[in-house]
Amino acid sequence: MKKQDHKYIFVVGGVMSGVGKGVATSSIAKILQSRGFKVTAIKIDPYVNVDAGTMNPTEHGEVFVLGDGMECDQDMGNYERFIGTNLTKANYMTTGSVYLSVINRERNLGYKGKFVSVVPYIPMEVINRLDNAAKVNKADIVITEIGGTVGEYENLLFLEAIKMLKIKHPKDVAVVLVSFLPLLDKDNEIKTKPTQHAVRALNSAGIQPDIILARANVPIDKKRRDKLAFHSSVRKEDVVPAQNVESIYDVPLNFEKVDLSGNLLEKLNLRPRQKDMRNWKQFVRKIHSSVKPVRIGIVGKYFGTGEYTLSDAYISVIEAVKYAAYYAKRKPIIEWLNAEDFEKPNKLKDLKKFDGIIVPGGFGKRGIKGKLDVIKYARENKIPFFGLCYGMQLMVVEYARNVLKLKDANTTEINPNTKYPVIDVMHEQKEKLAKNNYGGTMRLGIYPANLKKDTIAQRAYDTNKISERHRHRYEVNPKYIEKLNAKGMIFSGVSPDKRLMEIAELSKEKHPFFLATQFHPEFQARPLSPHPLFTEFIKTCIKK
Ligand code: GLN
Repeated sequence: MKKQDHKYIFVVGGVMSGVGKGVATSSIAKILQSRGFKVTAIKIDPYVNVDAGTMNPTEHGEVFVLGDGMECDQDMGNYERFIGTNLTKANYMTTGSVYLSVINRERNLGYKGKFVSVVPYIPMEVINRLDNAAKVNKADIVITEIGGTVGEYENLLFLEAIKMLKIKHPKDVAVVLVSFLPLLDKDNEIKTKPTQHAVRALNSAGIQPDIILARANVPIDKKRRDKLAFHSSVRKEDVVPAQNVESIYDVPLNFEKVDLSGNLLEKLNLRPRQKDMRNWKQFVRKIHSSVKPVRIGIVGKYFGTGEYTLSDAYISVIEAVKYAAYYAKRKPIIEWLNAEDFEKPNKLKDLKKFDGIIVPGGFGKRGIKGKLDVIKYARENKIPFFGLCYGMQLMVVEYARNVLKLKDANTTEINPNTKYPVIDVMHEQKEKLAKNNYGGTMRLGIYPANLKKDTIAQRAYDTNKISERHRHRYEVNPKYIEKLNAKGMIFSGVSPDKRLMEIAELSKEKHPFFLATQFHPEFQARPLSPHPLFTEFIKTCIKK
């Protein structure tokens, strides 16, 4: 049999969702990278949406954007942050995208008149994509996370792909089951049965796990581990206990305490090349040794889901704040503030307790008045303010209304008939929107910008040229740029053709930090290289 030039690791979930498959995948990628291998990580989402672009953040969490413009699941952000590399659209697929290519190929006679059945053609397309991702990323090991939980109907065809690969390349594939061991109450024992059932569900798809990552809220004792191993037909050392941790960045180090990388490499018939986790350890040390707080309020609207509050929609922003805070040896205290609450009287003064305020990206009308009032309050009370995408557009609207005195100035996203459309849709998108063609009508992915000398932005980046990731339909309307400039708003980052405003700020004399970006700097913030604008923002917050 032909020797494979790359290896495959699959991460699947058992028992329930939300037990940290994404972090497990990222951490496995990290520890294998530390052993000297080139790794890449892939996410497979079982839904029919072709990408994550059209989904509401309260449904799905954050839509993460890759450099090439792919709109994908937030797990992709974790992969990039842990392994510190840029991933591509080859690293992401959904049921919808897989079917779409198979159907298009069939329409183009790509199957040469054959009968195209779901099995094997859908799993074959999946495998081709994994191999393509390995090639594009020049990876030795491809780590693939399968969305959903085993036993569901939705991800069966992806499990079929694993089965097919395992039969063809038994020495090149390892399967990790991330499962959960519940504890009903503290006087009870931790239960292994649900995980045993998950293993059985996986078995019925033709797959035996190589490793079971046993997640739990409490430590798992040896007796329970051995029992789980026995009933799941794996070796004792292949049950890796993974109890809750203080920080997700601890996870790779915990995996290494039981030499998970060594174990996986052995299963894949690879010999470790090195071992180097120094930088990571240093970073983790900073997390645990930072005690003095820095308080940041994030004013958004995608927090509520039923009776619960989730911060998932802003995960990259939150992580970016954390990196910058740890870098400054501060403990980040982040509070979610619901924009609509600030529409009530007397609420704004609650903002006083924060060292800094962020208004992140968003869409639509809800909560806009609250956000505008927050921005005005931060400007007038000199609270460091950082706006991201919609945050910049609203910063411009607020400035136009209250400083330029353009009454009811607005973005046309909220009021298409405003007399002062200071934020307006880009011309080339207008036609598509008129036809309700929303999929892929945004400015997406990496674009370059030039920075203006001696501005906060330019000093923070310490360079004159940047490239950052975008996801938006609207822009600062060129007609108002001169007027805004005349009243002190500086556009310190501008597209190379000078048409698009990328960063807006007020000078230090006017405000310690009142700056916003049309792009999303949070998408490129990494634990080992915090983003310069977040770093500068936090620095000013601390001074306050
Ligand atoms: N709704 C705004 C736009 O489409 C901002 C988008 C965002 O914040 N990502 O331009």
